[in-house]
Amino acid sequence: MPIERRLGGARALFTDRFGGVSAAPFDSLNLARHVGDDPDAVSTNRARVATMIEAPDAAWVIPRHVHGSTVLRIDETIELGVGASHHPEGDGAATNRFGVLLSALGADCAPIVIANDTACAAVHAGWRGAVGGVVEAGVAAVRALGTGRVGAVVGPCICVRHYEFGAAALTDIVARAGPSVAGRTQTGDPAFDLRGAIRLAFAHAEVDDADVEVLDVCTVESTDHYSYRRDGVTGRHGVVVIKV
Ligand SMILES: [Zn+2]
Repeated sequence: MPIERRLGGARALFTDRFGGVSAAPFDSLNLARHVGDDPDAVSTNRARVATMIEAPDAAWVIPRHVHGSTVLRIDETIELGVGASHHPEGDGAATNRFGVLLSALGADCAPIVIANDTACAAVHAGWRGAVGGVVEAGVAAVRALGTGRVGAVVGPCICVRHYEFGAAALTDIVARAGPSVAGRTQTGDPAFDLRGAIRLAFAHAEVDDADVEVLDVCTVESTDHYSYRRDGVTGRHGVVVIKV
């Protein structure tokens, strides 16, 4: 079952593998075109998700993620066709407009929703984004476009116990981001703490920790979700968010 949240002036839905039409290994609610799935199946799946969130006619912004830190600002100056989908490059998008459905996709990386009273954002964060400023960019975009207290929900993503990381690479990241982003896997090997890094990024952005909910779902452990680390060739779940 998808996980729904009301956050500020937005409604968000974290999808899982169920309810779509894609065949194995993308079964069944894959939302990504770039993974090798049948494009018609992906289109059907996306339409189903838009209906799940009661926005079948929304213009859908589905950024192509590049593990960067750009969060696009979809304000009134951006032309969007009704019911059309748009695929700009970026790791997040924010809006203060009604009728615009934003998404962030992942399969171990974290889909994140950020919202205040009148704006919302969907953000994709893997380790590069989490230490590279994508969360801070998402908060800044929501603050620039809207008003009120900022809150966030961090969706299903890989937990530290399953995120084994090369020791040398981890040392480099710790030098940039601090020791709290490092941890250990369940077998005691060096690991990256994605959720910890995201919480740290929200703290940097001056979002109160009490206003950040982290869902306790590890994508490697949950067979209800896609996991690149577990399965290699697989689909993508994600978060969709819309202003209500
Ligand atoms: Zn795990």
